[in-house]
Amino acid sequence: PFDVLVIGGGPAGASAAVYAARKGIRTGIVAERFGGQVMDTMGIENFISTKYTEGPKLVASIEEHVKEYDIDVMNLQRAKRLEKNDLVTVELESGAVLKSKTVILSTGARWRNVGVPGEAEFKNKGVAYCPHCDGPLFEGKHVAVIGGGNSGIEAAIDLAGIVKHVTVLEFMPELKADAVLQERLYSLPNVTVLKNVQTKEITGTDKVNGITYVDRETNEEHHIELQGVFVQIGLVPNTDWLGEDMERTRFGEIIVDKHGATNIPGVFAAGDCTDSAYKQIIISMGSGATAALGAFDYLIRN
Ligand code: FAD
Repeated sequence: PFDVLVIGGGPAGASAAVYAARKGIRTGIVAERFGGQVMDTMGIENFISTKYTEGPKLVASIEEHVKEYDIDVMNLQRAKRLEKNDLVTVELESGAVLKSKTVILSTGARWRNVGVPGEAEFKNKGVAYCPHCDGPLFEGKHVAVIGGGNSGIEAAIDLAGIVKHVTVLEFMPELKADAVLQERLYSLPNVTVLKNVQTKEITGTDKVNGITYVDRETNEEHHIELQGVFVQIGLVPNTDWLGEDMERTRFGEIIVDKHGATNIPGVFAAGDCTDSAYKQIIISMGSGATAALGAFDYLIRN
C-alpha cells in the first residue's frame, strides 16, 4: 500500500505530494487533470516570488518539481469511492482499487457558471471569477458583478476600490448578503445595484463590451456598456463522490482541523475542497503542505 495517497493534482495535491515524498515514504497522486484550475488561468500576479506567470507555465514547473521525487503520478484518473477499514481504500472510475495508510483529499472546486451566451466565449477576456486575482486588471474600468450573495457583495466592495464603476446584478428581488455588507455597499459612490434582473448575455467582439439583462418585473431588456463581468454565484467543491461519513459544511466543503485532518482517522484534506476561508493558489499549497505533515505525524504515531 501507499503511505500517502493524494487525490487531486492541483496546487494543493502537488504540494502535499512533494512534502510527503520528502519524508521518504511511498507517495502517489491520482488526478483527473493534473494542474487543476490553474490550467484555466491566464495571468497570475499574486503567486509570491513570481511577479507574473501564466497558468500552464506554473503547472509545468509544478509538474517538474513533482517529477524530482519518487511519486507515482496517476493522471487522467478519477476517484469515485473512498472507504476506511484498517487502510483507506480508494476506487477509481477505471475500476482500479488503491490502498493507502493515509489519504489526502485535494479535489478542488469549480465556479458555478451563469450559463449565458458570451460567458464561456469571453472567459479570461473580460469574464472573471476571482476578484482577488483579476480585480487589478480592470483598474479605471466599468465592471458588473453577477450575484448578490456574500461573495458577490464582497467582490463588489473590493472592486469598487479599484475600478471606476461597479454594477451588481441580482436575480432575486432582494440581495442575500449580510446586512453589514449591504450597508457598506450602499455607502459607496461608484456602485449601482440592480435587483430582480436576469442576465441574458455577455456581449463583446474580441473581449467583453457589455451585458444585456431583463428587468423581471417589466420584462424590458436593457444593455450596459462595460469591460468586465465577475460571476459570483458560488464555488462548488468537488466532494460529491465522498460518502455520508465524511464531515462537510452545508456547502459540501470538507471540514479540516489545523493539521488538515478530517473526521475520518488517516484521511486529510487540503485546498479549495475544504472549508478554508479563502481559495487561492498560495493558500492551497500551504494547506497541502500542512496536510502532508499532518499525515506524516499520523503515520509515525500509528
Ligand atoms: P484545483 O486546482 O481545483 O485542483 C483539483 C484537482 O483535483 C485537479 O487535478 C482535478 O482534476 C482533481 N480532481 C477533482 N475531482 C477528482 C476526483 N474525483 N478524482 C481525482 N481527481 C480529481 N488563484 C490565485 O491564487 N491567483 C490567481 O490569479 C487565480 N486565478 C484564477 C483564475 C481562474 C479562471 C480560476 C478558475 C481560479 C483562479 N485562482 C487563482 C484560484 C486557484 O486556481 C485555486 O484556488 C487553486 O487552483 C486551488 O487548488 P486545489 O489544488 O485546491 O484545487
